[in-house]
Amino acid sequence: DPHNAPILVTGGAGFIGANFVLDWFAIGAGPLVNLDKLTYAANPLTLSSLEGNPDYTFVHGDICDGELLRGLFQRHRFRAIVHFAAESHVDRSILGPEAFLKTNIDGTFQLLKAAREHYDTLDGAERAAFRFHHVSTDEVYGTLEPQDPAFHENTPYAPNSPYAASKAASDHLVRAWHHTYGLPTTMTNCSNNYGPYHFPEKLIPLMILNALDGKPLPVYGDGQQVRDWLYVKDHCSAIRTVLEKGRVGETYNVGGCNQRANLDVVNTLCALLDELVPESKYRPHSQLIRFVQDRPGHDRRYAIDATKIEGELGWHPQESFETGLRKTVSWYLENTEWIDSVKSGEYLKWIDTNYSDRA
Ligand code: NAD
Repeated sequence: DPHNAPILVTGGAGFIGANFVLDWFAIGAGPLVNLDKLTYAANPLTLSSLEGNPDYTFVHGDICDGELLRGLFQRHRFRAIVHFAAESHVDRSILGPEAFLKTNIDGTFQLLKAAREHYDTLDGAERAAFRFHHVSTDEVYGTLEPQDPAFHENTPYAPNSPYAASKAASDHLVRAWHHTYGLPTTMTNCSNNYGPYHFPEKLIPLMILNALDGKPLPVYGDGQQVRDWLYVKDHCSAIRTVLEKGRVGETYNVGGCNQRANLDVVNTLCALLDELVPESKYRPHSQLIRFVQDRPGHDRRYAIDATKIEGELGWHPQESFETGLRKTVSWYLENTEWIDSVKSGEYLKWIDTNYSDRA
């Protein structure tokens, strides 16, 4: 039965991938192999609860390594690939785009090539069940003016950062491997995620952790950049839904219909911390907000039209922004061991150089 074969997850030790892997085992969805390079963005501690689970296999390796991929596909008859692995931080892509082109473009190419060879070896039933699912971002669509309609699946691509351009390139490769070679691919383009295990260089965890330490809360520019926030568990359920029911060759936009200006997000977090940490000497935490020089080429607004996945596949997010944010803040308050483990020397150096108060 091809449904008992393992799935391959790439980048499963990062923020969204790890949430996906943990949820996968929580619902008993079957064997899974996790291929991850363990860059700075990965934290093996996130998956320590899976050690010893016979259905879980971790492979430390690079998706750009074609030999490694070939060996992996020879050892396992994967029924699906869920491709998360990427360099994902826009600020880092501005300072050093090379790693983004390497992993996001060449890595996706290597994975598609290996997946296609693998697909050719499968029998009829296995081929019918096989999927290559590519996890992508709404940033490929560029930026919106306040009056523009939200991004839908036919919005033209207009990536503005090196990160977004590299993800756009990978999306096009996935599309081509379907149209040219018949590889059964699906794709999701999702808005900004937040939730547990989020690396603290990103807005929401950065603000929570800085506020707890009484450090400045650096807000880019005027703080009026609008993002459409989705709780990470809802993104993971959308990916499972597309894997199960999505039409081959299709793209589904995923979002929570939670458009918020960055400054509003930070103020909401401060209010939650005022409530949840009443003993804090930094209350009200909003006094820590500092406006810093805007990011070059900063997109003003992202918003997702998710009617296709909602109407066609019946997926709906479970968390509102308010409930999801409360869960997230509580998680960061309760998981100090995880937080201490990511506050390593390398990370602190990065934060000090790039997030110092530049106003
Ligand atoms: P992340 O940076 O937290 O994790 C990326 C993971 O990929 C890490 O574990 C890292 O070690 C691994 N990795 C990096 N390069 C690799 C390589 N060459 N080979 C193997 N593994 C490698 O990223 P994330 O936020 O979890 O994002 C996961 C995916 O979802 C990405 O493709 C990203 O573009 C997409 N996405 C993210 C968001 C978001 O808000 N974070 C929104 C939409 C889409």
